[in-house]
Amino acid sequence: EVQTAKNYVDHVYETIKKRDPHEVEFHQAVEEIFESLVLVFAKYPELIGKGLLERLVEPERVITFRVSWVDDQGKTQVNRGFRVQFNSAIGPYKGGLRFHPSVNTSVAKFLGFEQIFKNSLTGQQIGGGKGGSDFDPKGKSDGEVMRFTQSFMTELSKHIGSDVDVPAGDIGVGAREIGYLFGQYKRMHGKFEPGVLTGKGLEYGGSLVRPQATGYGVIYFVEEMLKDKGLSLKGQTVVVSGSGNVSTYAIEKATELGAKVVACSDSNGYIYDESGLNLDTIIQLKEIDRARISEYVIEHPTAKYVEGCSDIWSLPCDIALPCATQNEIDGSAAKSLVLGGVKAVGEGANMPSSQEAIDIFLKNGILFGPGKAANAGGVAVSSLEMAQNKSGVSWTFEEVDRKLHEIMEDIFQRCLTASEEYGHPGNLVIGANIAAFNKVSKAMLAQGVI
Ligand code: GLU
Repeated sequence: EVQTAKNYVDHVYETIKKRDPHEVEFHQAVEEIFESLVLVFAKYPELIGKGLLERLVEPERVITFRVSWVDDQGKTQVNRGFRVQFNSAIGPYKGGLRFHPSVNTSVAKFLGFEQIFKNSLTGQQIGGGKGGSDFDPKGKSDGEVMRFTQSFMTELSKHIGSDVDVPAGDIGVGAREIGYLFGQYKRMHGKFEPGVLTGKGLEYGGSLVRPQATGYGVIYFVEEMLKDKGLSLKGQTVVVSGSGNVSTYAIEKATELGAKVVACSDSNGYIYDESGLNLDTIIQLKEIDRARISEYVIEHPTAKYVEGCSDIWSLPCDIALPCATQNEIDGSAAKSLVLGGVKAVGEGANMPSSQEAIDIFLKNGILFGPGKAANAGGVAVSSLEMAQNKSGVSWTFEEVDRKLHEIMEDIFQRCLTASEEYGHPGNLVIGANIAAFNKVSKAMLAQGVI
């Protein structure tokens, strides 16, 4: 039974590798999920032959488009735009847009694939999608960002809609970019359709708590993992990578719950202060001034700045929160964390740990919250934003925060229950993958061969 299941899963995996040999990030994401799904097909061999995995790995639609725009020097620039509409079995495509030079088909597909499972875990009615561009917002003027973003939306607007595909932010796409995207969509369609994008400003249909949601959600999830073992966040030393939207609010909530955050980073290096970091300075630097994290030490001379990012994981800590980007923790970083006494890892970013790193954490009994579960709070509140847009009412901060908290508790329970049902109690990687898959696959089977 197990061997037949393994053969099936391996066969589908080999097929996608043969088809698109260069899509390494996508293969990595698929491999991690498939390893867990062997257990499902071993338990229910009758599911083999229904083409579930073959369909799951093939996006329903991939849109690639040219984005031309004029820079401040009057020169025409051309970037590439992507939208991967991966799976709509349980709801309209939903997922962020990433503006970063590393974005290509493989990255957009890995993110879209992860999103199918993450969105399923939230218990909300949202399918999986993702997109973005290789445009690098770093060092661009406000006008350049606006012209690029408008050009990007001019094409994207043909493919999205509040019941079709609902983009949001991700790396490089924050409140400013969502504003420009929304304005251009409205102009292209000639109507105010708030549910077409999430992460909007409060003044034009946004939801309270959406900016905080991913970071708060990561902490709520980590809290559940700790609670299950009779532990809490109080007095724990925390290392966070990144200093963007996810990191900022993870730092805020962790501190509020009694933990001490001693380090965070940007793409150039990290800051470290044994006595704890000052969040106001970080927000001022990264969000308002759009400056480098290295400048933190000017105001806080007790902190030290270290050039380069990978070393951040050799700092001793109880809790590690990778909130920067994919594959930021490799095998050797994972070993350093284990040596440094880490008890729990909560993934704020998408696929921040390599497969080797995950294996090291699990082998050493570290509590490990995979990104598709731990960072699902962002997209969960996006779905609450869509609900408010549909009904025309606005919920209070407390109301949305309470719903977010409940959703994160539910996600943890779903993962834990599935891990127990499938014989790996406490393995939240297996639990998350299987719980997410079971909902999506049931919906796919119910809807026939499409
Ligand atoms: N980009 C976020 C994620 O990775 C949020 C997506 C959304 O809100 O649609 O889940």
